Amino acid sequence: MLQESNTFSPVKTHYEDFSPVFGEAVLERHRGKLTEMGGFIDILSEACVPIAPVAAAWAITAGRMIRADFDRLVSQIVEGLATARPDCVLLALHGAQCVERQDDAEGYLLARVRAALGLRVPIVVTLDLHANVTRRMVESATAIAGYHTYPHIDMFETGQKAARLALRILGGEVQPTMVMRKIPMITNAENMQSTHGPFHRLVERAKGLEASGQAEAVSVFGVQPWLDIHEMGNTVVVVTNSKATAAKRHADALAGRFWKSREEFRVRLTPVDEAIRQALAMEGGPVVFAESSDSTGSGSPGDSTGVLIPLLAAKLEAPTAIFLVDPEAVARAVEAGIGATITMKIGGKFDRHNSKPVKVTGNVRLISDGRWTARARGYNTGIETCMGRTVVFEVGQTRILIAERSAMTVDPELFRSHGIEPLYMKIVVVKSPNGFRAAYEPLAKAVFLVDTPGVSTANLATLPWKRVSRPIYPLDDETRFEA
Ligand SMILES: [Zn+2]
Repeated sequence: MLQESNTFSPVKTHYEDFSPVFGEAVLERHRGKLTEMGGFIDILSEACVPIAPVAAAWAITAGRMIRADFDRLVSQIVEGLATARPDCVLLALHGAQCVERQDDAEGYLLARVRAALGLRVPIVVTLDLHANVTRRMVESATAIAGYHTYPHIDMFETGQKAARLALRILGGEVQPTMVMRKIPMITNAENMQSTHGPFHRLVERAKGLEASGQAEAVSVFGVQPWLDIHEMGNTVVVVTNSKATAAKRHADALAGRFWKSREEFRVRLTPVDEAIRQALAMEGGPVVFAESSDSTGSGSPGDSTGVLIPLLAAKLEAPTAIFLVDPEAVARAVEAGIGATITMKIGGKFDRHNSKPVKVTGNVRLISDGRWTARARGYNTGIETCMGRTVVFEVGQTRILIAERSAMTVDPELFRSHGIEPLYMKIVVVKSPNGFRAAYEPLAKAVFLVDTPGVSTANLATLPWKRVSRPIYPLDDETRFEA
């Protein structure tokens, strides 16, 4: 059960958004794919360990899940596990999922699984690097391992690591001790890459502890910042082989380092008009604009016109590509048909507070069923995305890919599958704070993090916080922390 939530998002999550499958269909979806489950299956198959596949359910980031839908999914998972009566459980979770009246979806699920299977069954869990790890998760799980990369390109390897650890626990080789440290800070996603900078140093330290055998799994979680919940903040989780004191010492040291580097996570955003001016002054392309405030991987609706309006106003002479979620506009375009020129209002319909629709006249170039498969090395590679009916709507030189449902924009395949080659664009707009870098940096002439309002903005102080524990950095200057 894997979804990241954004409690500021106006879009609720439903059961169907997870496209859940059960039993053997789980193996069909994930075998040979670069997902955590793909990693589980790889290691267990190699070890000739029988697998009882229970459930696979992934949803794109959005607002809290409808409570009844969540209860249905959790019951299916728990019943599946109770029927399988396993010696050990492997769970691939996100760690920052929220539900109506339940801030800690994974903690709740883990407590239910623990209650169903008893204390003796090891439960080994993988989490996204942006997990908001809670006390209840650590109390219910036997061991937790998070991704070490952002952009996330080690889902498969994290799954392998968890499966290997599970086998060693089952074999009596490892008696895991797990320690968690919560830090009263939130970090911007834009400066959290694992390739360089402050987060890189933390992850290298974590990897070093694993490689030297001092710990079984060391994870540094830079929680995704858009969660207005009480038990919020970055965490460090260390799993050692029965060495409790060492686990505490490593966790304290890493938490202290994380806190000390907090100023380095601050982000500088560029106003859209300024980014367009600089892009036009450059020879060639593509210049990538990251509209992180409307990031579909961070819970935004993907319908902001914050970049689209200035792009259209600039009347660019070179082709430009942008993604937009707008089911109404798709219906209009499909009705008009390929080749039709129509005038309609697009975007700005879900998040009316931060964005407004824009009236455009354009040409319907392509209509599709919105199905495409992620190919870029890393995030959900090999898994199919279904974003509903989709159209390419051309306004001047701007190719607007409009879909009925949201989709990740980190893989250029989103555009390529619809006849738009990012390499030939002057400007490509992605709705992602950092995940896009894995596939886009190698082909981008330049990258701008553009400044527009939205529910996944990097300007955290502008969000309507109500429930988060205060003080917390960077919202409160007086925040103090001693590891
Ligand atoms: Zn993440």
